[in-house]
Amino acid sequence: MSAIPFFYTDQMLQYNMGPSHPMKPERLRMVKDLLTDYGLFGRSLSLCAPNPAAEDELKGIHTPDFLAALQTCESGQARLDVRKYGLMTTDNPLFEGIYSASLLYTGASLDAAQAVIDGEPAAVNISGGLHHAHAGRAAGFCVLNDCAAAIHRLQRKYRRIAYVDIDVHHGDGVQELFYSDPSVLTLSIHENGRTLYPGTGSSSEIGAGEGEGASVNINIAANANDEIWLKAWRLAAVPILRDYNPEVIVLQMGADAHAHDPLAHLMLSAQGWLKAVQDTINQGKPLVVLGGGGYNLATVTRMWTLATALVAGTRLENAVPSNSAFLKYDTCLLDAEEYHPNVRDFEYAAARTDAFSSELQQDLKDYYHIGRGSQNRMS
Ligand SMILES: [Zn+2]
Repeated sequence: MSAIPFFYTDQMLQYNMGPSHPMKPERLRMVKDLLTDYGLFGRSLSLCAPNPAAEDELKGIHTPDFLAALQTCESGQARLDVRKYGLMTTDNPLFEGIYSASLLYTGASLDAAQAVIDGEPAAVNISGGLHHAHAGRAAGFCVLNDCAAAIHRLQRKYRRIAYVDIDVHHGDGVQELFYSDPSVLTLSIHENGRTLYPGTGSSSEIGAGEGEGASVNINIAANANDEIWLKAWRLAAVPILRDYNPEVIVLQMGADAHAHDPLAHLMLSAQGWLKAVQDTINQGKPLVVLGGGGYNLATVTRMWTLATALVAGTRLENAVPSNSAFLKYDTCLLDAEEYHPNVRDFEYAAARTDAFSSELQQDLKDYYHIGRGSQNRMS
């Protein structure tokens, strides 16, 4: 396999919502550095400088008034009340360069999409995956919806696109933007909205009009670990992806379902989560890989390093290289073992997640052959 494009520049660190904000831009540099320490660049990965998105590329996604308001915030100060656009809030504070940094993140996703259109088997932008941004407002640390921009670009070539979102939060912004579009399957596996932001993503949200059946939401109960999460994933996501048979897949690989992530309540290990990345790769489709959530610097760096190597077809030694600055965080890429909640929490999470899976099967029964033979695909 030739080297996979990996879009990164240190300018991405300017998307900085402040020292007390959970989203730390240095996670991007840490992933790039760890991939460098493993010697992947020049061999399995090609380090590419991204271009900022052209404003025209945003017009089909975001409303003109939101874009105009955002542009006025470039200095980090608001000249008008922008809170109705989700800006200058606790989740989405203003910072100097907010507009240009958002264009850069979006541009990197557009570049990744274009690389795949041009024939690359995969392309990676870990600064992307900002799935909560809505047409007319920023939300959940996401200013512009780069996922939607990448999908729009892919639509120049492809007629059937799957957006697969393994972030612990529901991919609400992307789902909303393609809710009536049967040419884009949005599939999100996330902690149930009763216990986690943004509160949406129930299995009954299946799309509207011609897009009915093209929005899929796999709900997971709080405290679920690898075993519970992977069972639900393989019961639904894998067969639905196969049935939908997309020409290309956009993978949003949020890493915040990890047990050590501070913002959610799931208990995944890096290796459990990585199986979903492998299942997605195993579909054998061209792949645009985006980042997303991940608020524990050590775990998000390990998980995105592992996933990027997997996408590039390379196996990494579990032990972090002896010259790596990452050693002050962790000595191995994988978790020492799977995480286990106490028995009562496990049984409750397993039963609730099974119930969510049954509801999903019912909600989508006219559209997909969910569940048949899925036990054989467990590993
Ligand atoms: Zn998230």
